[in-house]
Amino acid sequence: MTWTLRTRLTLSYVLVALLCVLLVSVLANGMLESQFRRYVRDGQEKAARRVAELAGGQLREDGSWDTGGLESLGMNALEQGMVVKVTGRDGRVVWDATEHNNGLCEQMITHMAQNMASRYPNWQGGYAESLYPVRGAGRDAGLVSIGSYGPFFLNDADLSFINALNRLLLWVTLAVLALAVGVGLLMARGISVPLARVVAATQRIAAGSLEVRITERTRVREIDAITTAVNELSRSLKEQEALRRRLTTDVAHELRTPLAALQSHLEALIDGVWQPDAKRLTSLHEETLRITRLVRDLESLARQENEAPALEKRETDLAAFVRAVVANAEPQFRAKDVGIDFRGGGRKIAASIDPDKMSQAVINLLSNALEFTPTGGSVEVSVDAQEIRVSDTGIGIGAEHLPRIFERLYRVDPSRSRSTGGAGIGLAIARAIVEAHGGTIRAESRLGAGSIFTIRLEG
Ligand code: ADP
Repeated sequence: MTWTLRTRLTLSYVLVALLCVLLVSVLANGMLESQFRRYVRDGQEKAARRVAELAGGQLREDGSWDTGGLESLGMNALEQGMVVKVTGRDGRVVWDATEHNNGLCEQMITHMAQNMASRYPNWQGGYAESLYPVRGAGRDAGLVSIGSYGPFFLNDADLSFINALNRLLLWVTLAVLALAVGVGLLMARGISVPLARVVAATQRIAAGSLEVRITERTRVREIDAITTAVNELSRSLKEQEALRRRLTTDVAHELRTPLAALQSHLEALIDGVWQPDAKRLTSLHEETLRITRLVRDLESLARQENEAPALEKRETDLAAFVRAVVANAEPQFRAKDVGIDFRGGGRKIAASIDPDKMSQAVINLLSNALEFTPTGGSVEVSVDAQEIRVSDTGIGIGAEHLPRIFERLYRVDPSRSRSTGGAGIGLAIARAIVEAHGGTIRAESRLGAGSIFTIRLEG
């Protein structure tokens, strides 16, 4: 079963609130039971002693009792739950509440029993009497027996105090629950509203609206991170989409030119305008070679891009490996009178690479360096740690082109490259190979001064 964020958050707040209230109630009631009982018991004991003391005050100097005083004392005590019986020194009962008004006494005891039963349904109590000595007129005057519902009882005031406390707890519970629901809803809103925005945005992106961006910010860092990630995703999808479209157009464009030339030349031959001599046929052959080369390059790029997991990596000495590639290229450099230098230090540099593929990447950099460096210039290849660097003193690349030269079919000067055969795929292949190795490739260049290409292998 799945829940909405709002339900989950609200329920968890309510649960926590309920647990807190329960804890407070249990603690409060526990305290009440122990502390309040002691307090009530002490109070009742004190009240009984006070009654005994006051009873002593009703003994006159002549040894007779003020029964009127005893009566008002006894009735007063009865109201507080005490049944008073005063016995003189001679054992004679001087005043007895049960004799005076037995009905009222019984009524009072029943009332106390009811109070106790209302608070403690299983309470086992009963009527009990305690004796207290009476001192009056400066001497021992007899005994007061105080009967009450025991071992202790709650009078109406005590009971209403407890009830008020419980009512208060109930109100607190309700208030805390309302607060928990309110805060839960509010917090859930703060999360679910921006999340819903992200969901809606991703759905629109999935449906093809790649320009969708979420601009609203929240105060929750994780949600902002999702928002940024979705925006980033949409931006990069849009870029990929643009790249894909451009690639189709570029491929069509690259094919159209040689095909158009082929077509017009063939038509001229068919119409008899041209004779099919060696020169014409060679020119036709060159056009087909150009198309073949383009298709081969595209195939090679597709292979590099699709076969990243198929690398056959081997532990290789990077310095020796690059030195060998450079040595192979030397004759071409010499033919164009461009100097080539290798600097790899004498040290062995261990690297895990697929030598066949990686040499393709380095060869592509070298042939670009050779192509774009005029006669008399020089190229330097160096290996340092996990970096291979190819720098030339060639024509350089304008800053506006630099970010795009690794794209498929991108050329700074299409007309020049077409005449020299480059279709703008060499660097894309080099990048695919390096990235398949988990590395990076970057270019720095200054127009007219030369370029530096750096392959950095990770690890
Ligand atoms: P191409 O097959 O046309 O050489 P690349 O992908 O290898 O294609 O290079 C893309 C473009 O980058 C080239 O057309 C060229 O304009 C530019 N470029 C690459 N390397 C260099 C370099 N060393 N010096 C100047 N320009 C370069």
